[in-house]
Amino acid sequence: MQPKKVPVDGQARTCPQCGLATARLVRLDNYLSLFFIPLFPIKKGRIVLACKQCGGVWDQTTPAAPPEPRPIGPRCPNCDQIVEPSHRFCPHCGQRL
Ligand SMILES: [Zn+2]
Ligand SMILES: [Zn+2]
Repeated sequence: MQPKKVPVDGQARTCPQCGLATARLVRLDNYLSLFFIPLFPIKKGRIVLACKQCGGVWDQTTPAAPPEPRPIGPRCPNCDQIVEPSHRFCPHCGQRL
């Protein structure tokens, strides 16, 4: 049973392999077919990035969460909390700064 490829949007995306804008986001839906007539989707399929150039497919269902931005500032060497530059002692753990 071949999954049906449903375009998510028409936006071209850069293929991680080719480096060209030849990839598209598609959803792979598995249809329960009877006599080759698609009846209904069994489940909503995975979102994949499919490249027509190299045929590569990359799973996009669980995109990597962007890393938490670390607030900049002086930090306590003991508890790693942000401290005021003027503080002589850490207000969190009492570590002398
Ligand atoms: Zn490619
Ligand atoms: Zn501390």
